[in-house]
Amino acid sequence: MLKISKFGGTSLSEGKQIKKVAQIIKMDNARKYVVVSAPGKRWNEDNKITDLLYLCHAHLKYNVPSGEIFNMIEERYKSIIEELNLDLNIQRYLDEIKSSFNKNISIDYLASRGEYLNALILAEYLGYDFIDSKDIIFFNMNGTLDEEKTERLIKEKLNKTDRAVIPGFYGSTPLGEVKTFTRGGSDITGALISRYLKADIYENWTDVSGFMMADPRIVKNPKKIRNITYQELRELSYMGAKVLHDEAIYPVRKANIPINIRNTNNPDDIGTIITNEKKNGENIAITGIAGRKEFTVIGLQKFYMNNEVGFVKKLLSILEMYDITFEHIPSGIDTVSIVIDDEFLNGKLEKIIDKIEKSCEPDRIDVFKNIALIAVVGQRMAYTPGVSSRIFGALGKEGINIRMIDQGSSEINIIIGIEDKDFEKAINSIYYEFNK
Ligand code: ASP
Repeated sequence: MLKISKFGGTSLSEGKQIKKVAQIIKMDNARKYVVVSAPGKRWNEDNKITDLLYLCHAHLKYNVPSGEIFNMIEERYKSIIEELNLDLNIQRYLDEIKSSFNKNISIDYLASRGEYLNALILAEYLGYDFIDSKDIIFFNMNGTLDEEKTERLIKEKLNKTDRAVIPGFYGSTPLGEVKTFTRGGSDITGALISRYLKADIYENWTDVSGFMMADPRIVKNPKKIRNITYQELRELSYMGAKVLHDEAIYPVRKANIPINIRNTNNPDDIGTIITNEKKNGENIAITGIAGRKEFTVIGLQKFYMNNEVGFVKKLLSILEMYDITFEHIPSGIDTVSIVIDDEFLNGKLEKIIDKIEKSCEPDRIDVFKNIALIAVVGQRMAYTPGVSSRIFGALGKEGINIRMIDQGSSEINIIIGIEDKDFEKAINSIYYEFNK
């Protein structure tokens, strides 16, 4: 049995947390390779080390003194060493980083040091080998992952050691320089190691016990999701229920390795398991509900639209012209609407409407602002009649006006557009309809 265990920033934010992590690792012999993030926040207003490293880089770049910021970083690591009573000369490594300080220091190199130092510390504390990610994760010249080389080196280096700690978040370019993934990328490191070593399970330890059926800031004490499929997760996390980095899913999904989201602060909780197939035994038709506010819907009506070849193409080319992606495009016989995230729209709405009027010549064009989208997701929905009537019934009872409905062809989600002001009420009413 082989488990790859990745620990996030809050799990390794201070000595106290690292002790918990060590206990978790020692509890199970199968936890042979451990991937770590940089120290995260100890409390709400605290700083993540990675954020401080980026800040430090900005100071160096613009010739502003960076000493104070780097001091905060040094202090954090030193207090960890002290708390763990470790015989590790961390100063040597900190000095090494400082010795490369100059205006042109690589941002990726500096940002990666948070993980690098944390892995050195945990390896020392556990008595495990330290394997540097720059020797096992490789990128191509164009920035994509060099899968062949990464697979080869992960196998070669890790098979030589029985137990190791590996820093997440980075690898190296063909020129041997450090390159990071996007933020939160330690999840990807763990996923790649799991895939290439054919792990039985990829454990992702964080500060929550997996996914909940709804956002606990909106629904009081929502139920936990014990089992979720990759596809369901993709739908929910797209809508805001984020625990894992999106790109971490692909490698393990491809290799059919389950991901187990676990809570370092509550290791007895079995967390959420993400698999390809739905497990039997869970009878509820929906798996989760997620949503986001602040969308705009542009609705067009044109008599005989359905006979006009290329109408939608014209419409979409206008969005392309303004570099705008859209979320949904529900359509009727003579109507079509496009749903756009306000973030992409900023300041471009009037120009787009003007272009649409000229180029598509609709009979009517309506703009609905302040729209929220809610995704009700569940693999079982496809085989369970009556789910949508229950959703719409629940919203109707609350007097919530539905602006848009869309169901993907896979039938694993129903997307509902409502007004922003009804968002919290709508999520609660759907949640309680299925959890009476
Ligand atoms: N430390 C990095 C970040 O905060 C990567 C990670 O934690 O996964 O983005």
